[in-house]
Amino acid sequence: MTSTGYDVLVIGGGPCGLITAREAAKEGLKVLVLEEHKVIGKPMHCAGVISPRCLRELGIRVTGHMILNEIKGAKLYFPGGNEVEVSRGQVEAIVVDREVFDRELAREAEDAGAEIITSCKAEKISPMEGVAKVLVRCGREEVIIRCKTLVIAEGLVRTLTRELTPIKAKPLTGLQEDYELHEIHIEKDYVKVYFDKRISDRLFGWIIPLGEDRVRVGTASGRAHIGYRELLSRKEVENMIRGARRIRRMGGIVNVDGPLNTFVLRPNVALVGDAAGQNKPVTGGGVYYGGVGGMLLGRAIVRAVEERGLRQFYEGTWRMRFGRDIMVASLFRRFFDSLTNRDLEVLGKVVQEVSEEIVRNGDFDFHARLLMKGGIKVLLRALRRGEGNIYKAFIRALIATILR
Ligand SMILES: Cc1cc2nc3c(=O)[nH]c(=O)nc-3n(C[C@H](O)[C@H](O)[C@H](O)COP(=O)(O)OP(=O)(O)OC[C@H]3O[C@@H](n4cnc5c(N)ncnc54)[C@H](O)[C@@H]3O)c2cc1C
Repeated sequence: MTSTGYDVLVIGGGPCGLITAREAAKEGLKVLVLEEHKVIGKPMHCAGVISPRCLRELGIRVTGHMILNEIKGAKLYFPGGNEVEVSRGQVEAIVVDREVFDRELAREAEDAGAEIITSCKAEKISPMEGVAKVLVRCGREEVIIRCKTLVIAEGLVRTLTRELTPIKAKPLTGLQEDYELHEIHIEKDYVKVYFDKRISDRLFGWIIPLGEDRVRVGTASGRAHIGYRELLSRKEVENMIRGARRIRRMGGIVNVDGPLNTFVLRPNVALVGDAAGQNKPVTGGGVYYGGVGGMLLGRAIVRAVEERGLRQFYEGTWRMRFGRDIMVASLFRRFFDSLTNRDLEVLGKVVQEVSEEIVRNGDFDFHARLLMKGGIKVLLRALRRGEGNIYKAFIRALIATILR
């Protein structure tokens, strides 16, 4: 370690910590990133599906092997056998190799002047006025690092975050495997999404093509192992992976409960990325929302050395950008959570009827417009069909959202 004093210390070398570091270093600050694992990007815990907008706005250089596939649409599967296809025939999402993606971000942060130290874990933080002290363990060695601004980008483990703020959210467990298929070629443009409470109590199961003969199969749920087994037992999934070679198995934590109440915990301590809950409530995706968080935070630090400044330039701007979407998506999250498989079966039928609305208003990153326009149509149609349970579930979710 070359020094024990930094303008900015970032705990966590995931994408959001690295983007914060890159932006702060570009502003001329002395920045250190600490990553507890040996290699940036490993172990990988992400499906890697992001929008072209995400790649563009986060300003990431696209390097060879970073993009595994391009996605033009989705096939949605509901209980009872209903299948809905949505596509505009254009690239809506890309699948990135998160190891390559994170490594590239590390390179960009270093190019901007940030220092990155791996195999070092921040164990204790002591924020004080104007300075924060962090106890860091690197193997058997312990060091104290001082910084003016501390950025906690530790992801959803939230060990350090919990020391400073209470957390009520209950994250889901994600489980996924990559397979190299045997003599089977799949439609490489389409992701498959499985809505079924047996596969996921709160989210969905997925099959993401990584090319014509490679797939990523997974689910995130309160009971991921059971859900994953259920997904694999589906006839079409079973047939697809019969004889296939499993390339890797990954786990991880997924947040669908939205952001924490505040990202700025002390005048000089801020959360970013998954640690702050900067995820989409509908899918749990966090690279874009958290990446933008990193951009805003990294740039705000130099302008704002006191809490009000970080709140305004970082948190305020982030909430202006994503607040409306998060609010609408959280309402629909509560609604989806309370549905049964029987309700999902009905939902599947009405979603089919409004699939054009979905195509028209769908956006990979911003869900409010689709949920408001398509969602209300779905509810009215469900009511017309005499499926009052769905309607009641929505009213309950609405009341819970208002009372929150
Ligand atoms: C199964 C699964 C699928 C997903 N699919 C998608 C997807 O398709 N698209 C999408 O946008 N998002 C997806 N996500 C979410 C996405 O992975 C996260 O939102 C994203 O990685 C958040 O980045 P981050 O930098 O905040 O945290 P992380 O990527 O979790 O990085 C945190 C880093 O901090 C390090 N760390 C933690 N504590 C310490 C410490 N005390 N000291 C030093 N280092 C520490 C960790 O080792 C880690 O490297 C998925 C998540 C899972 C689990």
